[in-house]
Amino acid sequence: MAETELQDFRSETQAWLAENCPDSVLGTGMLAGFAGGRKAPAPSTDFMKWFDTMYERGWTVPHWPKEYGGGGLDASHNLALRQEMAQARAPAPLGGMGVTMIGPTLLEHGTEEQRQRHLPKITSGELRWCQGYSEPGAGSDLAGLQTKAQDKGDHYLVNGSKIWTSGAQYADWIFCLVRTNPQAPKHEGISFLLFSMDSVGVSVNPIVLISGQSPFCQCFFDDVKVPKEDLVGDLDRGWTIAKRLLQHERASISGFSSGAGARATRGGTGSIEALAKQYLGDGDGQIGDNAIRTDVANINMDARAFQLTQRRAHEENREGGTPTFATSMFKLYSSELGKRRAETTVSILGHHGIGWEGESFSDQEISATRGWLRGKAGTIAGGTSEVQLNIIAKRVLGLPD
Ligand SMILES: Cc1cc2nc3c(=O)[nH]c(=O)nc-3n(C[C@H](O)[C@H](O)[C@H](O)COP(=O)(O)OP(=O)(O)OC[C@H]3O[C@@H](n4cnc5c(N)ncnc54)[C@H](O)[C@@H]3O)c2cc1C
Repeated sequence: MAETELQDFRSETQAWLAENCPDSVLGTGMLAGFAGGRKAPAPSTDFMKWFDTMYERGWTVPHWPKEYGGGGLDASHNLALRQEMAQARAPAPLGGMGVTMIGPTLLEHGTEEQRQRHLPKITSGELRWCQGYSEPGAGSDLAGLQTKAQDKGDHYLVNGSKIWTSGAQYADWIFCLVRTNPQAPKHEGISFLLFSMDSVGVSVNPIVLISGQSPFCQCFFDDVKVPKEDLVGDLDRGWTIAKRLLQHERASISGFSSGAGARATRGGTGSIEALAKQYLGDGDGQIGDNAIRTDVANINMDARAFQLTQRRAHEENREGGTPTFATSMFKLYSSELGKRRAETTVSILGHHGIGWEGESFSDQEISATRGWLRGKAGTIAGGTSEVQLNIIAKRVLGLPD
């Protein structure tokens, strides 16, 4: 009975997607995406039409409870929806740190008042969030953070700075780790605060990269007043919440939370296989270069195996939600695989794969070069590969420190 009901849901969803997802956004993925808020350049009109249609249905965040603007779908319906969307090439209408990081964290650790205040503004796309974790002296050693918050009676006073804050120039709110007890052992004096990026005393400096873009910023906090109601969890006990949020982040980076196993990995237009046939074809529809052919085959097999592993993990995770330490395995594997794929793409392109700008390179070639560099960043964001290996060694395999 449950199977039939799920099958009906799939069929209805297929028909609904075919009718409602504008052709122009099909296959655009997060490239055309929307992370909430109104400070960033607007996505296309069609994309926002798609967003509005999905929001009306509760499907900007389908698995969150309806009272917070979600769709109230259970784990199996949520997975079915994600898979049908992937099949139809319909992009997620809403991404960003509200949906993927602070939202699930508030569902687990926030008060009811905090959930009601913040979650509906995430599902509706009204507000965009950023992550205030890393500091100039605290990256992998995150618990070494020094930004401090002092108790001033009815509020905390925050002073310090954060770095590599992705999208801070567009964000409306920040979730921020602060030191509230400098005397306590370093993991025990940290608290988890939320505050508006429009608060007096917040300033944001976009960091200009060699690409000319500024995907992240340095943020400075000078005497920022944060009302006490914006503390999440207990004072000095923010480290547990901070680590849980990282698990949500890693689940998102690896594609687990967006319906792992749903994405197409090989064969189609835009795949590395198609690219290798285009640039290195032997005339018979095969890849002419033996070494590249092997690399492409290995990447496709590894991607498929990873996809199946994540799908199995989803199916075993009947309650839904984000797994704990296994998220480090997913994050490690997906970012390393992404890096390999980007390196192979550049190898396939040969001298066309060193294009940065100018008319002698196609858009595809320029984006391959940039993707190759960005692929390396993927193994750093959300905790480096070495940090993930440490977590897997200690928390998954139980090896000694
Ligand atoms: C694209 C991108 C987006 C980001 N967005 C954000 C954001 O929005 N908010 C935010 O707070 N931060 C963000 N970051 C920062 C990111 O979390 C840190 O860069 C990362 O945690 C590493 O810290 P670090 O840069 O200080 O490097 P370090 O910690 O100085 O590490 C340097 C090198 O030493 C290695 N290393 C360090 N400690 C160990 C150890 N114990 N064992 C083995 N090797 C070790 C690391 O693996 C790395 O190779 C982002 C980073 C990137 C690349």
